[in-house]
Parts: sequence; structure tokens; C-alpha cells
Amino acid sequence: MPELPEVETIKNDLSPYLIGRTITDITLTWSKSVIKPSSLELPGRLIGQTIKDIQRRGKYLIFPLESGQYLIMHMKMSGSLILKAASSQEEVRFSRTIFTLDTGERLHFIDPRKFGMIWLIEDKEEVVGKLGPEPLEPAFTPDTLSKILSNRKAPIKALLCDQELIAGIGNMYADEALFASRLHPYEIGGNLDDKEVTLLHQGIISVLRAGIAHYGASTSDYYRPDGTKGMAHMFFNVAHRGGKSCPVCGTTIQRTMVRNRGTYFCPECQKLRQP
Ligand SMILES: [Zn+2]
Repeated sequence: MPELPEVETIKNDLSPYLIGRTITDITLTWSKSVIKPSSLELPGRLIGQTIKDIQRRGKYLIFPLESGQYLIMHMKMSGSLILKAASSQEEVRFSRTIFTLDTGERLHFIDPRKFGMIWLIEDKEEVVGKLGPEPLEPAFTPDTLSKILSNRKAPIKALLCDQELIAGIGNMYADEALFASRLHPYEIGGNLDDKEVTLLHQGIISVLRAGIAHYGASTSDYYRPDGTKGMAHMFFNVAHRGGKSCPVCGTTIQRTMVRNRGTYFCPECQKLRQP
């Protein structure tokens, strides 16, 4: 699933092409992705609208429109946005929604597994209002993280993936952040001491920044808007590396389940403390 670094890359890549452009047509081939308004109403309300900016909040991509409304997308399991030139005749596989721009370019929402979501709304808080803080904002300090985790009884891996606690971290970057801070994914969030919280805070920021610097991770269906893959997965230490050797100690990386999420860790570098 695209996480903060993948959605940030999509935003950065699309901004020069989309800001100031007007949407002149929309083709929906999988109408269930439209959450609000209805898929029947969406074309009439969206066509003619001009994109004023592109923003990211957590894993959501937000397009503020000149009208004051917001077009919002969530890639969910397998979504990507691919931008095709006006002259392109190439068929785009798994294209579920096509936005045509006044330049003739077409923005395809490709989504093999069909879990992606689209909204056109007046108040963006309706969609993103419950999200926790942005981990790359200066306001996200070790103290912020400490307050988020205090008294929590859940495994730290599950807490890191909870969008209402911290926005944008998912399976891959949670595993990487826990490896970076040498914490076992089952460690109880509320049991971390100040030093561990500070290391985890640094780990979160460094793995997310590295993910953005390498244009996101293409472990499955994620592509950049030009159709190329991200490179961040090539630098992963544990995520999606089950059965391979830990780059630090050589121990075989294990895969386990934490609250139904596939989780990778090094059993030597990330020892579970004794209860
Ligand atoms: Zn190790």
C-alpha cells in the first residue's frame, strides 16, 4: 500500500503538470471508487474545475480547487496515478478513472485491486479531520510521540500504523522504523522508556525521509506518475525481506503477524524484552 513517501512522491511528481490545469473530462470505469458525491454526480460537478494546488495529508492526496472545493484520493492497497501525454495511444492497464486536462494530458487512477477512493467535497476535514499529526512536521517531536504512546497497551507496530495516532505510516515504514530503533514489533507501546521513544522518533523520521529521497518503494503495485518504479525498497533493511539476512548481524529476517499485518523483523537486533 502506498504510504507517506509514495504519496509525497506522487504529489511532487504531479505538481508541475497539474497545478493551474482545468479538468475537461472524466471517465469512470469503476464507479465504486467514488465515495462522495455519487459517481453519477461527480462528472457534472468536477468538469470545468481548475486545480489550484496539490497537497498530501497522511496517505491522502488532496487537490484544492479554485472553487474552494477539494478533490481527494486515497490509493488504498494498490492505487497509482499515471500521467499520459495527449498523443499517447497506449492502453493503460487497470485504469479505473481518467481525468482529462485542458492540455489534453490524461491522468489515470490505476488500481488493480479496486480499493482506491475518490471524494469531491466542500470540507476536507470530513475526510482527513481525524488523522494524527504529520511525522515530518517540526511539531512532531519526541515529546509528541511519547504522549501518543503513553499508557497504550497495543503492540508498537499496530500503534505506528494507526492513522488517528500518527498519519502516513503503514506496514513497510513501521517495520523499517522499528528496525532502525531496534524495537521488537510486539513491544507494548506504553512500556517504551524516554530513550527508546527518542530513538523511535529518529527512526520514523529517517526512514520516511529516505523513502521520499528514493521516490517511494515499489514492492508491489506502486508506480510514479511517469510509470517508473520507486527505489526505496532497494534500501529496506527488513521490510519485505523475509528469509534474507539482516544487514547488521546476518541473522535470517523473520515474518510474523501483528494484528493481521505481515511484519518483518530481525530476531537478533530486535529482541522482545522480558515481561
Ligand atoms: Zn540483525
